[in-house]
Amino acid sequence: MPIVEEYIPAARFLESFNGKILIASHENPDGDTIGSACALYLFLKKLGKDVKLGCRDDIPYFLDFLPASREFMKLPTEEEFDLCIVVDAANKERLGVPVRAKKFMRIDHHKGGNFYGEQDLIDAEAPATASVVYYLLSNWRKDLIDTSIATCIYTGLATDTGFYTNSNTKDGALKLASLLVEKYGVDPHYVAVNVRERNPLRRLKLLSKVLDTLELHSGGKVASMYVLKEWLDKLGAGYEDTEGFVNYARGLEGVDVAAFIIEKPEEGVWKISLRSKDKMDVSVICEKFGGGGHRYAAGCKIPHTKSLEEVKRDLLREIEKQMQNQEGLSDKGETS
Ligand code: 5GP
Ligand code: MN
Repeated sequence: MPIVEEYIPAARFLESFNGKILIASHENPDGDTIGSACALYLFLKKLGKDVKLGCRDDIPYFLDFLPASREFMKLPTEEEFDLCIVVDAANKERLGVPVRAKKFMRIDHHKGGNFYGEQDLIDAEAPATASVVYYLLSNWRKDLIDTSIATCIYTGLATDTGFYTNSNTKDGALKLASLLVEKYGVDPHYVAVNVRERNPLRRLKLLSKVLDTLELHSGGKVASMYVLKEWLDKLGAGYEDTEGFVNYARGLEGVDVAAFIIEKPEEGVWKISLRSKDKMDVSVICEKFGGGGHRYAAGCKIPHTKSLEEVKRDLLREIEKQMQNQEGLSDKGETS
């Protein structure tokens, strides 16, 4: 449980803030950034604040059941805000677009990062940003948390923990989930069905193509997969349809690191998703390419001027290097 005192100044600051607020979710939005943003938005609305939601990308179909998910405005916008609250991102570049705001506030659970404001709430031990949002709201006006707000928080927590299976699933995550169900009437089955069981057919067709690209490297410890833009176009699919594919590669027996490469020519990049079974810290690998993330899930971008083969080669070389480094460290008992 986070220290209550840390939440009070942030709550006081927002309580007395009277300007125009934008709550911004990161590019390629996931359940945590959208769930956190929606929960905070609904709460601030109840307090009568002038608040809007924004994101560069469309809200993925698997999150469109969330209350307020349809109220996101597309970023960038010409509009200027007095305060931009960035949720679930360690740097402003993760918004994918510039935002005009006098002040920034970061609500997040990433370690490190490169932008900070006086009233930030950052808890690198938190399983999800949604949990940071919960403790902010519950230390502020608990009575305003309703089932809608709690469902948004639950969805952020559930998706970032891989529905309570990832290595960030500790007692804190399970206790919060239980509290949201017991006290605020969240229905876990409703969330699970909406997030996981409304797949469009194009997604499964795409999955079949992507699984065909699966390759093992480094004696079976590394798995890689990729998706090309032309496949998406042919199937009428979008990037949201690739969400979670990388877990098929991670799920292979003997695999410590899984890499998923997504071609994004319109952004001029190959988007990389790395996952580990927590033995390896993949955020270190992504940082080498200017990205970041968590120990078990991280991402980065590599310029599209490189060919797929070059991207694979560079990535696998760095993964191999880090495996040797990190194995060396753990042999000496320097990591846990
Ligand atoms: P995903 O692979 O699902 O896109 O992202 C996994 C995690 O890696 C995210 O939760 C986020 O923490 C981090 N991440 C993904 N892409 C980037 C990136 O381009 N830059 C940084 N700093 N972090 C990223
Ligand atoms: Mn998150």
